[in-house]
Amino acid sequence: MKRIALYDTTLRDGCQSEDVSFTLEDKLRIAEKLDDFGIAYIEGGWPGSNPRDEEFFSAVKKLHLKHARVAAFGSTRRANISAAEDFNIRLLLKAETPVVTIVGKTWDLHVRDDLRISKKANLEVIADSIAYLKKRVDEVFFDAEHFFDGYRANPEYAIECLTAAAQAGADVLILCDTCGGRMPHEILAATRAAAQAVTVPLGIHCHNDGEMAVANSLAGVEGGAVQVQGTINGFGERCGNANLCSVIPNLQLKFGYHCVSSPQLKQLAEISRFVYELANIEPTNARRMSASAPLPTRAACMWRRCRRTAKPTNTLTRSWSATPSACWSLTCPAAVTWSTKPSSSASMWRVPTRRSKLFWTR
Ligand SMILES: [Zn+2]
Repeated sequence: MKRIALYDTTLRDGCQSEDVSFTLEDKLRIAEKLDDFGIAYIEGGWPGSNPRDEEFFSAVKKLHLKHARVAAFGSTRRANISAAEDFNIRLLLKAETPVVTIVGKTWDLHVRDDLRISKKANLEVIADSIAYLKKRVDEVFFDAEHFFDGYRANPEYAIECLTAAAQAGADVLILCDTCGGRMPHEILAATRAAAQAVTVPLGIHCHNDGEMAVANSLAGVEGGAVQVQGTINGFGERCGNANLCSVIPNLQLKFGYHCVSSPQLKQLAEISRFVYELANIEPTNARRMSASAPLPTRAACMWRRCRRTAKPTNTLTRSWSATPSACWSLTCPAAVTWSTKPSSSASMWRVPTRRSKLFWTR
């Protein structure tokens, strides 16, 4: 069975969400939960971006996590200076994590307009940063920023960036849909092309601006990615990141990949609630259903129809009275019984979430 390495960025990308702010204590408790759950990599933050992230990297060493490896996140060196002179790279090393993930440009538009350097110089920035870190850190991951937009505009150059990172010693190349605007068929084709071009393992990192982050993550795995990045409950910048609470059971139960053990999979609803609680965010009914039974089954659909029907038919009433957990347990071992029945006053079909508002008002 093909294994998928899970890379959680709730503590870094998740904290970019405008309604999420974790204390240091929260971050440490979440790291312990993620470790118990079987997450392979926990991205703790960006050293130097704020004092809390710096404190986290020194405090997390005392937790003695059982399985998970902690990653520090940062960017490639600035142009025109060496990696050794780059302040951010020095801070990454100061975090003393076994894994460092650095993000670099792979879209020629950004190389020209943001960095304002030549395409060749950007390849040197990528290669030099990775080679320097690889001599000092156990594992170095390269986040290929805007890879799918870059591949669409200039596929040869986007692949050249991956090749430069691979030749410099990157352990995993993570293909990022940073804007969250690409569709699954595009993700699948570009990931397959990347997998043919390089032998280094690939990862997938999707944002949810088009409500496609989960589907795109699955497409990335189908295309050859063996590492999946996301956050618990889909927290993240703008419309959020790929929701690991949906991605994991889909990969494991529908696609047959191994992400976590069966007992760990049963902890999924609990970890979702735990993170909601620490974030002080009330899950909507839709989110609660997603955490309890991530796959929309017939029972869930029936229940939704009941909720929208003023006078449910006998058939629908019978389906609902059978309780969804009973139906879900047939198809989803991760399903747990709801601790509370959804409130009859809940209006999940009328009140938009902040994220859907953001998407539809663009
Ligand atoms: Zn991201």
